[in-house]
Amino acid sequence: MVIFDENGKIDILALLPGELEEQILLLGEKKFRAGQIFSWLHVKHVDSFSEMTDISAQLRSKLEDSFCIKSLFEVKRLESCTDNTVKYLYELSDGNHIESVLMEYEHGNTICVSTQVGCKMGCRFCASTIAGYKRDLTSSEILRQIYMTQKLSGRKINGAVLMGIGEPLDNFDNVVNFLNIISCSQGMNMSLRHVSVSTCGIVPRIYELAKLKLGITLSISLHSTNNKSRSEIMPINDKYDINELIKACKEYFKTTGRRISFEYALIDGHNDSRKDALELYELLKGFVCHINIIPVNKIKERDYHSDRKAAYRFQKYLEELGMNATVRRTLGADIDAACGQLRREYEI
Ligand code: SAH
Repeated sequence: MVIFDENGKIDILALLPGELEEQILLLGEKKFRAGQIFSWLHVKHVDSFSEMTDISAQLRSKLEDSFCIKSLFEVKRLESCTDNTVKYLYELSDGNHIESVLMEYEHGNTICVSTQVGCKMGCRFCASTIAGYKRDLTSSEILRQIYMTQKLSGRKINGAVLMGIGEPLDNFDNVVNFLNIISCSQGMNMSLRHVSVSTCGIVPRIYELAKLKLGITLSISLHSTNNKSRSEIMPINDKYDINELIKACKEYFKTTGRRISFEYALIDGHNDSRKDALELYELLKGFVCHINIIPVNKIKERDYHSDRKAAYRFQKYLEELGMNATVRRTLGADIDAACGQLRREYEI
């Protein structure tokens, strides 16, 4: 994807191998140079042209004139004492802040990345949306979170979840470009089976994403079982209601063959009763999917509560109805690893 920065330079990290090749040929250079440069950027994760030691000084200076490399600066790091979760607060080149969280699972390290600065979606329980939306991240800024975090932590990252600050499907083109680059064999070669994209339910984009058949896991932030209860906590439901959303999910599964994961943030007294479980059963009956129960994470601006006991109780209700549900592991609880909380503290 060819995009220019404020100085008219091309964002080189956002270019796919073929696009970089075209640009290198336009500079009058040989094609193989593009492969070398791509590898410096996406395998060795350098953040300046001067580190590309097998490229001549003359070509490096030409590259400096035509391209920019987006950088991130580590502002703060919080390391969990209870598990290997590390949360990074990064500053972008325009002074905005975003968060990334590195988590350890049995199969390796997964990173939770941000896709926007802030968020427009207005979900009541979410810290990322409170101060509103500032801008979309470029695909290079999404990639950079992975490259920087891998470098700073010294831990190989083999999976990613787009569940940090922002709504990925509200930044569709940059997110798709990010997915294409992170999975390309000349770069990090991350399997898209290890990548989850989470959405609050922008229905037309779900259909669009299905057509691309990327092999990612689609996570839907459902959190409620009927329109009244969902609209109370998620304004997006007034635009695309729960029935339209489930219809789009069924189409997604039909087109891609990939099982959908439904996120269900449990809130005391709002969506955690046996009646809610029954309604969830009715809503998803016969649909091959997975339900992930998350006790809502308390944020200081709102009065929502839940706990793991309630989550296990709700899981039991669902199991009794024959539904497949897990309670999400709590990682980094001591460092408030839920999205948007660190940035909120920092910006105020
Ligand atoms: N905008 C996307 C992705 C970012 S949020 C989406 O809505 O899916 C990632 C997940 O965390 C979503 O399921 C979101 O609903 C959930 N979430 C946000 N704040 C939360 C909180 N305080 N407690 C529990 N889950 C929360």
